[in-house]
Amino acid sequence: METKTITKSQIREAVEQTYAECKGIQGGKNADYIPYLANIDPELFGISLTLPDGTTYAVGDTEYKFGIESVSKVLTAILVLKQYGAEAVLKQIGADATGLPFNSIFAILLENDHPSTPLVNAGAITACSMVQPQGDSWGKWEAIINNFRDLCATESEVIDELYRSESDTNFNNRSIAWLLKNYGRIYDDVPMSLDLYTRQCSVGITARQLGVCAATIANGGKNPVTGVQVFAPELAPKITTLISSVGFYQNTGDWLYTSGIPAKSGVGGGVLGVLPGVFGIAAFAPPLDPAGNSVRAQAAVKSVMSKLGLGVFDGVAVNVSDE
Ligand code: GLN
Repeated sequence: METKTITKSQIREAVEQTYAECKGIQGGKNADYIPYLANIDPELFGISLTLPDGTTYAVGDTEYKFGIESVSKVLTAILVLKQYGAEAVLKQIGADATGLPFNSIFAILLENDHPSTPLVNAGAITACSMVQPQGDSWGKWEAIINNFRDLCATESEVIDELYRSESDTNFNNRSIAWLLKNYGRIYDDVPMSLDLYTRQCSVGITARQLGVCAATIANGGKNPVTGVQVFAPELAPKITTLISSVGFYQNTGDWLYTSGIPAKSGVGGGVLGVLPGVFGIAAFAPPLDPAGNSVRAQAAVKSVMSKLGLGVFDGVAVNVSDE
């Protein structure tokens, strides 16, 4: 297989130039169905890229704590993959793209046997119901938030105002949770499972932390900053497959086709991208396109990929050199 060498300074320059070029991109609109998110400064913007040796290139608002929202689904999917294994997750949740919006009830009705994938609301609520220890809300939350820390290398916590804002308005997710219960796809107490999901979506996270989490996945489960093997290497391709197939919901195919990198978005404006074996990248900017994906963060991740001439399906081995 052909090997392509890129240097660390090329990567740094790609990130810095992308920041300068994408900073002025307008368009999109903050999520407003969660009142807290509507009021976040729409000009915030940051990019953070972490290599398997822990080197991080971060520009812009990469220390700002924003709502992790649906990117949390990736982290908790990893937790249930760890706790149950890849086979059980396929059986109990599924690994199929829905081709429909993240909060689709229609998708559940179409596939009444499965919540489809842990990376849409339905499957993510099911994943929260599976988190061990069963029946113990506090123990489950500890497992979720400790897993966040292990993947991101630093602690994070719930933004209380966001949590209240989501809890007061999550009527659609309540319907999803009870409909799933009807299909036997909630494996613990229903309100508890939904509350854990809402709480994990309300965690404040930085682009730097998400970049490290992405790099942990790209690095076969070993956190490049702490050196800890957070999950088994054989689970890395499973989680990257899930991200590839549904990370941008109904726009996932277009995204993968044009960007060349599996990535997952959240309505807080975050995007987490995984280039296996090469790097993890995160970008953050609040205004979203109609599918709920950050306009500026998508442009930024695409731009870094095209400046470096990389793509997950290129069929070349990538070597990152120090020079
Ligand atoms: N908490 C949000 C919801 O459940 C997350 C959605 C998202 O980020 N796409 O609707």
